[in-house]
Amino acid sequence: MQDPLPVYPVSHAGGVRIFLEDGTALIDGMSSWWSAIHGYRHPVLDAAVKAQLDKMAHVMFGGLTHEPAVELGKLLVQLTPPGLDQVFFSDSGSVSVEVAIKLALQYWIAAGQSGKNRLLTVRKGYHGDTFAAMAVCDPVTGMHHLFNEVLTRQLFVSEPQTAFGSPCAAGELDGMRATLASHHQQIAAIILEPIVQGAGRMYFYSADYLRQVRALCDEFNVLLIADEIATGFGRSGKLFACEHAGISPDILCVGKALTGGYLTLAATLCTGQVSRMISRNGGVLMHGPTFMANPLACAVAVASIKLLVNSPWQQRIAAIEAQLHSELLPCLDSAKVAAVRVLGAIGVVEMKEPVAMAPAQRFFVEHGVWIRPFGKLVYLMPPYLVSPDDLRKLTSAIHQFVQ
Ligand SMILES: *Cc1c(COP(=O)(O)O)cnc(C)c1O
Repeated sequence: MQDPLPVYPVSHAGGVRIFLEDGTALIDGMSSWWSAIHGYRHPVLDAAVKAQLDKMAHVMFGGLTHEPAVELGKLLVQLTPPGLDQVFFSDSGSVSVEVAIKLALQYWIAAGQSGKNRLLTVRKGYHGDTFAAMAVCDPVTGMHHLFNEVLTRQLFVSEPQTAFGSPCAAGELDGMRATLASHHQQIAAIILEPIVQGAGRMYFYSADYLRQVRALCDEFNVLLIADEIATGFGRSGKLFACEHAGISPDILCVGKALTGGYLTLAATLCTGQVSRMISRNGGVLMHGPTFMANPLACAVAVASIKLLVNSPWQQRIAAIEAQLHSELLPCLDSAKVAAVRVLGAIGVVEMKEPVAMAPAQRFFVEHGVWIRPFGKLVYLMPPYLVSPDDLRKLTSAIHQFVQ
């Protein structure tokens, strides 16, 4: 890079702290991109990896299976919204989105309707950096101009407008209904991030919107893919964000916090209806990553999920939410701040102008916190076991930064 941003060498991490090589301790406000929900070097997770390492680090998942994958599959089926009872493991969130898209396309091929091969999505979404995933990211912020010639052209409607907590304005989904009415014979699935539009926008939208999307999918015979890679495992205050709307998608993607931030692993779940259709007449899902269901990753994912569900996570996240609310709202007093939003363990301060990254990074490191803004967004998604004192240091750094 011609003009690189500052980069800080890390020596180690523990709890909610990241330690730099020069001895600086930073309170982590990012959970390493939504993943380290239990913080760093958690003894239970460390022990799970070490125990699995004494059995095997990896073995191919074609024709062979193993206990960590089976146990993780069962846990995911049990905890995700009802009806999702088939699991496919892959290595990263983007790949789990590729798999979700492939499932949807193969579903319609097997159903004898191969003309249903396009995707419909909302603007301002983010679904990953591989090509099929990029094609459903926001067309403006999602690199579409750069890869215009090679990206599949998908269908977009405007992003959800009504904020979380309110019912949709009348007519808000008219655009989506109209696109479905005119194109449903070419549409395999709607893909979206339930409730929280993450990397594209950091916005929390109405559960009513999501319920109406589910109803439109049923009405027009289109599958629903929910990308819960960012929201899964409690971040929004529910274990999965779909629960805010009481809906089940046909296909679900999880990643990021799946292993508590230890190893790279993602999963795509689908309903029995989807898997039965694809596998009728001997069909199989045409995907097979080399490191599918890596045992170390599955073992630590099992440990992380059990740690989460056996902890008072609802109370913890409700407490984080209340504190983020009371300590970030005063940022609105600054003339530079456009909006403050909080949902679950996510706190967002949206500035009126884009934040200059290099000075922002230095400011936060000097203030002993790890916060990495993007665009106009300065935001927090700390590990769930952050103490009130540490959370106050994070919010007060933001408060000082936005003055
Ligand atoms: C991060 C993210 C992805 C991509 O996951 P990677 O592991 O970075 O490939 C996809 N969808 C959403 C909603 C995400 O937040």
